Amino acid sequence: MPYRFRTIIEPFRIHSVEPLRMTTEEHRRRAIREAGYNLFNLHADDVLIDLLTDSGTGAMSRDQWAAIQHGDESYAGSPSWYVFLEAVQELFPFRHVIPTHQGRAAEKILFSVIAGPGKVVPNNTHFDTTRANVEATGAEAVDLVIPEGRRPETLHPFKGNMDLEALETLLEERAPDVPVVFVTITNNSGGGQPVSMENLRGVRALCDRFGVPLFLDACRFAENAWFIRTRERGYEDRHVADIVREMARLADGMTMSAKKDPLANIGGWLAMNDDDLAERCRNLLILTEGFPTYGGLAGRDLEAIAQGLRECVDPHYLRYRIRSTEYLGEALERAGVPIVRPVGGHAVYLDARALLPHVPPLLYPGQSLAVALYEAGGIRGVEIGTVMFGRHPDGTESPAPMDLVRLAIPRRTYTQSHVDYVIEVVCAVAEHAPELPGYRIVREPPQLRHFTARFEPL
Ligand SMILES: *Cc1c(COP(=O)(O)O)cnc(C)c1O
Repeated sequence: MPYRFRTIIEPFRIHSVEPLRMTTEEHRRRAIREAGYNLFNLHADDVLIDLLTDSGTGAMSRDQWAAIQHGDESYAGSPSWYVFLEAVQELFPFRHVIPTHQGRAAEKILFSVIAGPGKVVPNNTHFDTTRANVEATGAEAVDLVIPEGRRPETLHPFKGNMDLEALETLLEERAPDVPVVFVTITNNSGGGQPVSMENLRGVRALCDRFGVPLFLDACRFAENAWFIRTRERGYEDRHVADIVREMARLADGMTMSAKKDPLANIGGWLAMNDDDLAERCRNLLILTEGFPTYGGLAGRDLEAIAQGLRECVDPHYLRYRIRSTEYLGEALERAGVPIVRPVGGHAVYLDARALLPHVPPLLYPGQSLAVALYEAGGIRGVEIGTVMFGRHPDGTESPAPMDLVRLAIPRRTYTQSHVDYVIEVVCAVAEHAPELPGYRIVREPPQLRHFTARFEPL
């Protein structure tokens, strides 16, 4: 019998280290007060374990740093552009690939061209910048995730799935107003939950029936493919890259942030098959991002993304990645801390509404919990709830479907002992949850208020 071991190790060793700055609780209490109780306003040096986002915060590999040295900065037709194009089309065989400086630039360009007043864009759940870019054109953004996807404690292997009946009803009533149907893989704002291939096929069939294009918001495509491989019948022996191509072939286009699964610190793209749409998007690109062979990126960024795309579909990497997120979630669950279940791909989502029942949604329980985690242990998470989604374009406010605190795990950045520390801090704060205050907003901008709003504890 060959030996078999249960421990899933990091499939890399450390090559270059960054020191962490240790801080005291007293220092942190002062820092967060000065930041208006908004974790986005902190100096990152004052953060010990930064779980604000998994976006652009991953550790690049030796081979990505080497690729950067190959960066060619020719204004037009750089060899680095062709390396990038080939790597993208290897996984996403769309005819047109339009590089952008990050995901939201792709969204801004696409929705400027196809959305506008009177239009409605369905998605399983819009990510915050996606919703904002849809709404900025005057269009309506509708979230149609399955009902299980809105219930933190309900188990479902593909909680990110689109509610096909709800989508069908919307298309029956308003298909001419729907310029595109979007599916976000994995469903970030709904807990990093995957979408099954079967569900994607169902969305495709509806799009065909009503003559509406289907686009993927594909930021975490590799993690989604891994969940399909491990949870969906018929995919257990398939290569991850194959599963990715199958998802891509069901769609007419995509928006992408290279700061997520592609393991880069910056970048993104927009891709599609429609020649006419591509031309209109490229015309806008030239106005706002740059020439179509570099978008808003340097040649070296294009090289780092291309190499990252090869690494992120490696099954050893994905097994470690998904397992290390699950490890955090399982420990919190065992300790009785309410979290979104099952654990998603890139983050653990604490259910602040359940943990702080004494703080009503309009007093922002998620913000309260996020601030407490920072004060207690220097951990920076992010509220995903009524602060982020509660304010509507007409200026009114209502509770978001859930009040969560997301602890996002940067890729290949923190070790298991960092995660063990996070578990200890979260459990300690959870014990003191009944003492945590509500907050009120003292200043906020009209859109994407969570980035810059200032708060006061009550
Ligand atoms: C991060 C993200 C975006 C936006 O990408 P940026 O690179 O941050 O502009 C869009 N959709 C989803 C699902 C994301 O996670």
